[in-house]
Amino acid sequence: MTSPRYEFDTVPSPGETQTIAPGLEWLRMPLPLALNHINLWLLEDGDRWIIVDTGMFTDDAKSVWQDVFDSVFAGRPIGHVIVTHLHPDHAGCAGWLTEQAGCDLWMTREEYLLCRLLVADTGREAPEEGLHFYRAAGFSEEALDAYQRIFGFFGRYISELPEAYHRIAEDDVLSIGGRDWRVIIGRGHSPEHACLYNESDNLLISGDQLLPTISSNVGVYPTEPDANPLNVWMSTLKNLKQQTDPDVLVLPAHGKPFRGAHDRLDTLIQEHEQGLEKLLKHCSEPRRAVDVFPALFKREVGADSMIIATGEALAHLHYLVDLGEIEKRDDDSGVSWFTTVRS
Ligand SMILES: [Zn+2]
Repeated sequence: MTSPRYEFDTVPSPGETQTIAPGLEWLRMPLPLALNHINLWLLEDGDRWIIVDTGMFTDDAKSVWQDVFDSVFAGRPIGHVIVTHLHPDHAGCAGWLTEQAGCDLWMTREEYLLCRLLVADTGREAPEEGLHFYRAAGFSEEALDAYQRIFGFFGRYISELPEAYHRIAEDDVLSIGGRDWRVIIGRGHSPEHACLYNESDNLLISGDQLLPTISSNVGVYPTEPDANPLNVWMSTLKNLKQQTDPDVLVLPAHGKPFRGAHDRLDTLIQEHEQGLEKLLKHCSEPRRAVDVFPALFKREVGADSMIIATGEALAHLHYLVDLGEIEKRDDDSGVSWFTTVRS
């Protein structure tokens, strides 16, 4: 399996830009997380600029944007802000930016609607459905308390989205600065993630759908407790391979621009398949979602990553349940046990 081939020797410092191609700038935005940056893209469109993804809504991000307005945009207008998907590092500053610039927000419908829904949870108490969901997964009382404390965190890093938006959808072609960008939809990491593909210069703005080193989170959460997101995620990886050129320059949200998309997609598919194999062995005895972490993760899961790890574990378990390879049973106390079906 070949590694991603990086296109540039240098990386812009947080808040700086670097030119990818004429009229296409790479902006690195700092993030207050272990994953300490996100890549955003600035597209020149005649006398105006189009922004793709926005950063988490923090004071740092706002000050970076102020600098970009002064140094890069230099008084020229913003046409619109495109957001690939709803996560706070992508959608965080979108509402604030569109208000500052007096422009529209462009997003897919499922991302826009779910984003507004999740933001509305901020300030509310964790619902009984959420507690039931994590109890079923095997959470201790301590872990349930932690869930209740962080419930609603989503909206803390997102500025209020505009009340109206411009919908983008699969196969739409966005004409920007003489380049046609076709929308390719990815599912599984988020409901309707937009990637933008330009065939003439062989460029793919991939968001979180295709990253050079990280495997994007694919998880099940309490709002849709029976979901099987891994199924649509795997289909998306295969679809991306069909829809893009093998030598496409991938512009990912995290890490560095790279070539070798098809190899990377194959690796991601293989990694999930290996995880599923390990899970089938691990569940030869009944297991709860929290018991299967060693089969899926190399590192020990700490208290701060329980929610993400459980979501990811359930995504893999539900995939196998839907295939009929694992059976799910709930005991009298409401805890779900997963056991491999003997053939
Ligand atoms: Zn994401």
